[in-house]
Amino acid sequence: MIIKNVRILGGEPVDIRVADGEIAEIGQGLEGPETVDGGGAIALPGLVDLHTHLREPGREDAETVQTGTQSAARGGYTAVHAMANTSPVADTAGVVEQVWRLGREFAHCDVHPVGAVTVGLEGKQLAELGAMADSAARVRVFSDDGKCVDDAVLMRRALEYVKAFDGVIAQHAQEPRLTSGAQMNEGVISGRLGLTGWPAVAEEAIIARDCLLAAHVGSRLHICHVSTAGSVEIIRWAKSKGWNVTCEVTPHHLLLTDDLVEESPVGAYNPIYKVNPPLRTRADVEALRAALADGTIDIVATDHAPHPVEDKETEWSAAAMGMVGLETALSVVQEAMVETGLLDWAGVAERMSVVPARIGRLGGQGQPLEVGAPANITLYDPSARTEVDPSAFASKSRNTPYEGMTLPGRVVATFLRGRATVLEGKLV
Ligand SMILES: [Zn+2]
Repeated sequence: MIIKNVRILGGEPVDIRVADGEIAEIGQGLEGPETVDGGGAIALPGLVDLHTHLREPGREDAETVQTGTQSAARGGYTAVHAMANTSPVADTAGVVEQVWRLGREFAHCDVHPVGAVTVGLEGKQLAELGAMADSAARVRVFSDDGKCVDDAVLMRRALEYVKAFDGVIAQHAQEPRLTSGAQMNEGVISGRLGLTGWPAVAEEAIIARDCLLAAHVGSRLHICHVSTAGSVEIIRWAKSKGWNVTCEVTPHHLLLTDDLVEESPVGAYNPIYKVNPPLRTRADVEALRAALADGTIDIVATDHAPHPVEDKETEWSAAAMGMVGLETALSVVQEAMVETGLLDWAGVAERMSVVPARIGRLGGQGQPLEVGAPANITLYDPSARTEVDPSAFASKSRNTPYEGMTLPGRVVATFLRGRATVLEGKLV
């Protein structure tokens, strides 16, 4: 198969010949029996998400491995890491293998289960990290995401344990006592609205502690969804020491701010904006963008968090936290980072494919588009303008904060080892 007229990382137009799931040739005027017209789209290595909630097993009303990975493919992803906070929790070799098998059978991209750090995400006893690493799912990323591993001794033991198989602990940094009953970012607006505040220090204190712990035991730490300017400063300091710390930012934290809770196109107190960690201030957003540009923040991860309507369309305090994100991630990153001149397409490929694959230790993903590499390719038209229509999502859930907004860009096609999962913007 020949993919005609694409611009690798935004460069000059070329054709790509794909054979046996790999890139066999890159050149001009390539011909073959089967061709796909790229129409001058940008070619990126297939995107890799380090932080996706697929909800299966247990909440198939919100998402399944099949619908979640269809959503991923439409967003340009060829691999996702499925978070462990399912029901049952992915805290044993049996459950991670179940998710891995569902991925092999039904998925539209590669599915890599994340293992829980503690049994039942309860923060009391380490889960079977070694057994999950040795299982067919070959788990390398462990996280209690949704909850913080707040016990320092357990966190230390987990960091020590995963060194044996080059694993990484992905921490959801939220000091639980400082965020008891918290509803939104603590600041001027939470005060005015009378909602319990979620102080930045609740995130920053855990990040500081865990950077010190990771350095102390010489292990790999990853920080999920960094959301404050102070967190960025701590991570910048930890990296300057040479410590093995990486972190991610979500698309929504690069674009949206806490004042939307007070005033927005969909009214005040609309739980569509309720998310963990909460939307922060404009100053935080600016700091996160600068940190993603300079490499202090390593990657963009979606934290795709599907919820059924009844869990979101309720009063603010009762509503579930989270937003879907797979199908809008690249457009939001274009809006926040590319249109602002902070990143070029090579920079986007690093942060949304190459580095997340490296952190997750995925061999066959996140490789530069070169001859011999697996043909995991995303074609993206940055000149398109699309009004976000949740009813068109492949995801089972519709809880997007971007409904009705016009965002730049459109995923034209996605190829997983040479096989199209999306063509002309539609699932294959
Ligand atoms: Zn989280």
